[in-house]
Amino acid sequence: MGAAEGKTVHSPALTYFSMISLLSLCPPFVILLWYTMVHADGSIVQTWNFLKKQGLQGFLEIWPRPSAIAWKIIFVYGTFEAALQLILPGKRVEGPISPTGHRPVYKANGMAAYFVTLVTYISLWWFEIFNPTVVYDHLGEIYSALIFGSLIFCVFLYIKGHVAPSSTDSGSSGNLIIDFYWGMELYPRIGKSFDIKVFTNCRFGMMSWAVLAVTYCIKQYEANGKVSDSMLVNTTLMLVYVTKFYWWEAGYWNTMDIAHDRAGFYICWGCLVWVPSIYTSPGMYLVNHPVNLGTQLALYILVAGILCIYINYDCDKQRQEFRRTNGKCKIWGKAPSKIEATYTTSGETKTSLLLTSGWWGLARHFHYVPEILAAFFWTVPALFNHFLPYFYVVFLTILLFDRAKRDDDRCRSKYGKYWKLYCNKVPYKIIPGIY
Ligand code: NDP
Repeated sequence: MGAAEGKTVHSPALTYFSMISLLSLCPPFVILLWYTMVHADGSIVQTWNFLKKQGLQGFLEIWPRPSAIAWKIIFVYGTFEAALQLILPGKRVEGPISPTGHRPVYKANGMAAYFVTLVTYISLWWFEIFNPTVVYDHLGEIYSALIFGSLIFCVFLYIKGHVAPSSTDSGSSGNLIIDFYWGMELYPRIGKSFDIKVFTNCRFGMMSWAVLAVTYCIKQYEANGKVSDSMLVNTTLMLVYVTKFYWWEAGYWNTMDIAHDRAGFYICWGCLVWVPSIYTSPGMYLVNHPVNLGTQLALYILVAGILCIYINYDCDKQRQEFRRTNGKCKIWGKAPSKIEATYTTSGETKTSLLLTSGWWGLARHFHYVPEILAAFFWTVPALFNHFLPYFYVVFLTILLFDRAKRDDDRCRSKYGKYWKLYCNKVPYKIIPGIY
């Protein structure tokens, strides 16, 4: 099985162009975003003028060198999360069966790891053992270290994929760039039970989102003696989102990120660097821009955000309950309408059920709408003085629209005429009645 299987849904020229652009532009972008948020008042114009005047030399000067303290923070955090992943008890969960017939087995201890991490972090601050402001004050150095450290980690994944793959779900496309970018192994592990993608995606990336959200809040509190209502709304919504993620973590192990995307730059570098920097960026901006929304507006935004997170959760849950019960469940109080889609893998004919009612009857990827709206609601407390806090919302919209295309193409080639039937029944891709 080729690593590029199902990936090159765009033309080869566009695929190579986007891979090389993302490989070369994402690292400097992370640094520029951090610099603009923390040192240029969140103003792209200010950073642009600086770069125009100072050129490449100026850019190299603002790029922080990875410091010893940055490496120390990353090492302690990474080791702590890896230890929790290995040690904490959890239910045995089986992932979906792969095209080569392999079924990964996990220990579902994400919620416990999340709880222990936040309680430990907040306690360290409360009992004055470690002040999270140190993390904020060295954020640029931390991102810089993460950028280089994660690139080296992706090289390790590439070599491991070639010389010591953990399962049959591995292989080379024959092209170095594609193998490095998309990855070689679907389920790389260290030993029998330390799952690398669970570590990079869930325990390092997603956990850092919650840890940094709390860090930004504490930094604003330490700097101003209080936390603004805008920051409170932002932090609460991001924490509700991450809590939902851990509540549903075993479900995440059935999604494209884990079951289809291999461990390479796209997923692993993304989770190790892009999530801690870009995903948390609205909160990073608010640290130095405390907006007072007033109780009523703050509550409206909070409730709207929580509602979107709930709907997104309910969409995922509906699909998974439907699959788990083999269609023998109630969808919005009624028996589900469905398509029995047969497909062939490794010479064997199998059947999957496609839900065509409930959220999945509105559009084929309706769940992306509340996901994008939730991100808008945790950003809007920053109001509209600058564009940059909205970068994540724009990025997420592009990512999910591209993902809908990738997923549709994959399902079309998997289910053939049955997917066509689904598309006839549910004609819209994401936004009912529009797209
Ligand atoms: P999923 O993998 O959960 O769902 C898509 C898969 O579900 C398809 O590949 C297909 O897989 C199956 N499927 C498709 N249509 C149906 C149907 N009608 N009935 C039953 N099964 C169906 O999607 P995602 O991984 O994209 O999303 C999971 C969650 O993660 C969402 O909440 C999303 O918003 C979130 N997300 C967040 C991102 C972020 O950066 N913040 C990025 C990406 C996702 P099969 O082969 O099994 O049929």
